[in-house]
Amino acid sequence: MSDTESSIGSGQVADYIPDLVKADPKQFGFTIATVDGHVYSVGEAHTPFAIESISKVFALALVLSRKETPIWQRVGREPSGTPFNLLIELEAENGIPRNPYINPGAIVVADQLLHDTGNGLEALHALLRAETGAADLQVDSVTVESEEGAGDRNRAMAYLMASFGNMINPVHQALDHYFRQCSIAITCEQLAKAGLLVARDGLREDGSRLLHRADARQLVALMTTCGTYDAAGEFAYRIGLPCQSGVGGGILSIVPGKCSVVAWGPGLDAKGNSVAGAVALASFARTTGYSVF
Ligand code: GLN
Repeated sequence: MSDTESSIGSGQVADYIPDLVKADPKQFGFTIATVDGHVYSVGEAHTPFAIESISKVFALALVLSRKETPIWQRVGREPSGTPFNLLIELEAENGIPRNPYINPGAIVVADQLLHDTGNGLEALHALLRAETGAADLQVDSVTVESEEGAGDRNRAMAYLMASFGNMINPVHQALDHYFRQCSIAITCEQLAKAGLLVARDGLREDGSRLLHRADARQLVALMTTCGTYDAAGEFAYRIGLPCQSGVGGGILSIVPGKCSVVAWGPGLDAKGNSVAGAVALASFARTTGYSVF
């Protein structure tokens, strides 16, 4: 039995968001989408799961696509080394989150996107629909309810940032967009196709450019340093590829110029990253030699 097979079913499904508890930890899917148009999948690559924090990469891409965005005055670019929903640093650091992939950073990005577009969720949803080719991509209303019900810590972070003047919109509006963006139901195959936007250095599926190449590479740099939160060092050590994980059990990994890879298994480790997903990506990196280290 391979490492990946024996890791399937390990870990705990996220239980702080009640809707996620329903997932069966024995599920597993894996997709590789290459920049030259090939898609390879195994397992349950067509089963939708909650995108959760992986949405943060695409929301940031949209914000960075605007010229002269003020986002880097509002959020930092340093790994936090702490859980994605910790409050303490925010108070000590004047309401400026360490990076855009921890929750407070992503709430600031959602707030900026709402300000820039008038409807941040729709902008994000439209981007994902176009890049995946899935016109029926949905925000799961049961997940939204669950995110809202379990959202006090995110609310606390957003109000704290507002007290430092780091929110543009009313807090409840920005949070509404954030909760909904986390609740988009997506499959491994769809997410891997969407990730090609980043793997192609900012080029969209239709050939138009969303991001400058440098911005796309910076998005990926931040995935490496911040995308798996307080496990980013361990991910660099074990996998050596930029990764962004979500508590729905998905991990998106990018090999710039080559491919976008998604591993999904709902069983998480203590830091909120998919156990089987990480093992599968380590095996992928070893087999392909794609580790950047
Ligand atoms: N929606 C989740 C939250 O706000 C996202 C966290 C994650 O996927 N790491 O806590």
